[in-house]
Amino acid sequence: MSSPTATERTLDAICNALPAGEERPGQKEMANAIRAAIQQEGHVVVQAGTGTGKSLAYLVPAAVSGRKTVISTATKALQDQLATKDLPLLAEHCDRPLTWSVLKGRSNYLCLQRLDEATAAGGQQTLGGVAEASGASDLVTPRHLRLMQEFAAASETGDRAELDEEPQPWVWAAVSVGPNECPGAAKCPRGDDCFAERARSQAAAADIIVVNTHLYGLHLRNNQAILPPHDVVVFDEAHEVEDIISATTGISMGPGSFTNLARVIDTLILDVELIDHLHADAKRFAAALEPHLGSRFRRGLPPDLAEMLSQMRERVNQASNAVRQINDSGSPDLITRKARVATAVGALVIECDQLIGFDDSSVMWVSGTQDAPRIEMAPLDIGVTLDQLFWNPEPLGVEIAVTGSATSDQGPAFGSPTTAVFTSATIPPGLATRLQIPTEKLVELDVGTPFDFENNALLYCATHLPEPRSNTFLEASAEE
Ligand code: SF4
Repeated sequence: MSSPTATERTLDAICNALPAGEERPGQKEMANAIRAAIQQEGHVVVQAGTGTGKSLAYLVPAAVSGRKTVISTATKALQDQLATKDLPLLAEHCDRPLTWSVLKGRSNYLCLQRLDEATAAGGQQTLGGVAEASGASDLVTPRHLRLMQEFAAASETGDRAELDEEPQPWVWAAVSVGPNECPGAAKCPRGDDCFAERARSQAAAADIIVVNTHLYGLHLRNNQAILPPHDVVVFDEAHEVEDIISATTGISMGPGSFTNLARVIDTLILDVELIDHLHADAKRFAAALEPHLGSRFRRGLPPDLAEMLSQMRERVNQASNAVRQINDSGSPDLITRKARVATAVGALVIECDQLIGFDDSSVMWVSGTQDAPRIEMAPLDIGVTLDQLFWNPEPLGVEIAVTGSATSDQGPAFGSPTTAVFTSATIPPGLATRLQIPTEKLVELDVGTPFDFENNALLYCATHLPEPRSNTFLEASAEE
């Protein structure tokens, strides 16, 4: 009999340390498959039923291998479980020192530069786009800003989740940057003490980074430039991967995109006419989208929407020219604000172009509500998107990437992880094919569940109940 591997020894040590710890063959089988895949630079799709202990089954081989690993989860609950329970437990029993970090999207961290700007403006700003979406008062008062300054001074992380009270959306919008606004630390006067940059540096130094799959999707969309380079990625809750990656590599644009642009530009240019036009365009855009609510377009955009988007693009171009003409006179603050606006404008132009250039490789629809309609576009075939962005990324980026987006100052880091693991208690049939995982490197397995559902579960079909749509169904099922 061969001697146990380091992965097996670590799993055994953890198992023995737990009060009700018992060996789980499925967990070991899964861990060994992942260990082999990491060694051979292959990929694994593994269904691991309830009770397998799948998080340790991927954490242990990743930690033992010493390879930089990103764990991507669909839910915050799982992120919390990994960061506060599984990883500390693993660190106690791992032969090697282990560090980890949870990394969130940039808009989750307080932006010191935005706070400085808002403070210099003395509060009392109105943030139309955000208020429009929330339907609430949109005033950012000096008191709000004082609370944010106190938070900035006291917090180690600047993470919004650490605030004692959830801030109103428009207040947070005034002191944070959206995904397409930050010009990068090198161009920012507060880059050296930026919370988001600090979180990113900690992640870069950690052995294991925990993120959510939305952030991973944005990382792919931005030519793999948001997360630090890594060797292994594990998608837990992989049954959600298709939907999330599809949403994050697609486009979602509503009137708020333009009111938000007006807000960003308002911090830089005293051009009342342009700002008014952007707000008016946002209203016209909402009115144009509203009749199409719930519609799905298969063969190009309806003419009225195509025309509207062209006009919006023209307006954004106008804004872009106005920004370009600003003389920053070498002022670091002005340079940052100009770069931030240019980044936001550039991203919006690209999104307008992609929507206007919509073809049959994507699907487009109008979602939201009458008050806040949105046009959405997503790739029809997520496998093609992943092939371009993940399995075989182009060295110079691909069409769908948002250039100029706030990522790392080092620029895009090409080179996908050499091992990808997809795991869930319920792997959807055909997932590996739809994701276009290279078959020559792929291992698929189902390690089952340690629970004896066959002998301990009961399926009860109340066939005598009325149809679920009938008026009497609720009452009858409550009685049952
Ligand atoms: S680098 Fe970006 S997120 Fe950080 S303070 Fe500057 S503008 Fe804000």
